[in-house]
Amino acid sequence: MGFKELGLKEKVLKAIDDMGFEEPSKIQAEAIPVILDGFDVIGQAQTGTGKTLAFGAPIIDRFTGSDNEIYSVILAPTRELAIQVNDELARIAKYTDIKLLPVYGGTPVDRQIKALKKGIDVIVGTPGRVLDLLRRNIISLKGVCYLVVDEADEMLDMGFIDDIEEIIRQCNDDRQTMMFSATMPDAIRRLTKKYMKPEARFIS
Ligand code: AMP
Repeated sequence: MGFKELGLKEKVLKAIDDMGFEEPSKIQAEAIPVILDGFDVIGQAQTGTGKTLAFGAPIIDRFTGSDNEIYSVILAPTRELAIQVNDELARIAKYTDIKLLPVYGGTPVDRQIKALKKGIDVIVGTPGRVLDLLRRNIISLKGVCYLVVDEADEMLDMGFIDDIEEIIRQCNDDRQTMMFSATMPDAIRRLTKKYMKPEARFIS
């Protein structure tokens, strides 16, 4: 199966072609149509499987224009991963006007606040910094259409579970949720049961 069979629009297909990818990976072939159909997805997947494009392509595909609200939030365990995911999303979004911003700790918050005030559609962030921005009322997640929790087990190991839960609770109930994790410890399973739709699809 090629990328053309997955239901993505031309603007995204063209960007994927520019990235030099010829065939969807297994997780991409399985997850992209299901996410486009509106289902929550629990993906048991390691890095290197192509999961960033698996969730990124449908999110960018469905974007219809900026509206002063954050359209999507992607949580990642580290600054490096947040930057890496943001860069990959920017490549997929090449033919759209979607505005992305990585937000992470260990760096002054002022520049991120300034950028956010100009209007951002997608934030890719570490949980601590996202929560900090929420508590300062710099961002609201009430308009979020897509929430992604990437490398959930890593974030659990790093002690971010309560932060993640608080961020999820601040998101619009009427959203789609994707959670990716290499392993499925009980604490992650509990999150999926508590915050994802019962008809969520499991992909591995
Ligand atoms: P990820 O698992 O999302 O971290 O992706 C791992 C690497 O594979 C990244 O460098 C991607 O750019 C690359 N990649 C993702 N999808 C494909 C694909 N369909 N074909 C070739 N490379 C890909």
